[in-house]
Amino acid sequence: MNNILDLSKKELAEAAVSLGEKSFRGTQIFEWLSKGVSSFEDMSNISASLIAKLKEEYYIGLPEIIKTQESKDGTVKCLFRFDDGAEVESVFMKYSYGNSICISSQVGCRMGCTFCASTMDGLERNLTGGEMLGEVLAMRNHTNKDINHVVVMGMGEPLDNYEELSRFINLIHDPKGYNLGLRNITVSTCGLVPQIIKFAEDFPQVNLAISLHAPNQELREKTMPVAKKYKYDELLKTCVEYTKLTSRRITFEYAVIDGVNDTAECAEELASRLKGWLTHVNLIPLNEVEGRDYRKASDQNVHTFKEILEKQGVNVTIRRTLGSDIDAACGQLRRK
Ligand code: SAH
Repeated sequence: MNNILDLSKKELAEAAVSLGEKSFRGTQIFEWLSKGVSSFEDMSNISASLIAKLKEEYYIGLPEIIKTQESKDGTVKCLFRFDDGAEVESVFMKYSYGNSICISSQVGCRMGCTFCASTMDGLERNLTGGEMLGEVLAMRNHTNKDINHVVVMGMGEPLDNYEELSRFINLIHDPKGYNLGLRNITVSTCGLVPQIIKFAEDFPQVNLAISLHAPNQELREKTMPVAKKYKYDELLKTCVEYTKLTSRRITFEYAVIDGVNDTAECAEELASRLKGWLTHVNLIPLNEVEGRDYRKASDQNVHTFKEILEKQGVNVTIRRTLGSDIDAACGQLRRK
């Protein structure tokens, strides 16, 4: 049995034809799936005989909701389970510009960042594009609210699952489907250099965020093993290349960790590396994870950090903390 959510509009049209139907039936099925239907019987313009044939080959792989947490600020976190038992988290957030969902791209992660909860048990498996779409649809079904931004910043390293990430973007962008604008999608990476260039070529309109978390190689490789493979200088050079290829601003994420990367010297060094080009730094107050020794930096240090970057003309914001009364950091709900 295959998850029908993995099929593109074109593949569904081909599937319809192979089942002895007109190809437009495929488009109709695609439209239904993007509405978030959980059963083939809900597809009211599809004949019972086609539904019977579909059910022999496919299932609708929407994840089941195992746990939910709702914050006072409207943030909703869901623990989803797919039919093989794999569990991932997604978070729904309200912003002034609309509703956003943070989805997972893998079950677990093999990047090994030392401050992150998602990577503690390694990588279990990749998610498929249809499963990522399933997170969005299941969250919309659960909250009953439109979702107009998707950030791929949950569990997993999206560029380590490139083919399925591409599939997801193409699925959710399809005008006959969810019809989400490419500029309303943000992908976050720990810095897989070759895939960043490929991503710039394939999806120049999708926003890219880079998890930098350090002002230099030495500090970065202490918390992010990926830095040993792709060095700091090489990563920044690739980011410059990215902005040239796409004319898009790149966002650097910087989780500010007490005693690790939160000093004024760190801020000065980061500013000296970034000033003069089209970037934006997002300072993230660390989410403290059970079983990890890191503590979040003091508000004072975060503000000083911000001021230093600003003085050097680097665009910077401090990420608003949403859902701090629930387990908002990646992978925490799953571990519980
Ligand atoms: N693998 C991708 C996307 C998933 S993590 C990446 O590395 O970008 C999404 C963001 O949350 C990354 O910037 C990641 O470094 C950050 N993050 C992970 N654990 C965190 C924690 N405990 N507190 C704050 N940010 C964290």
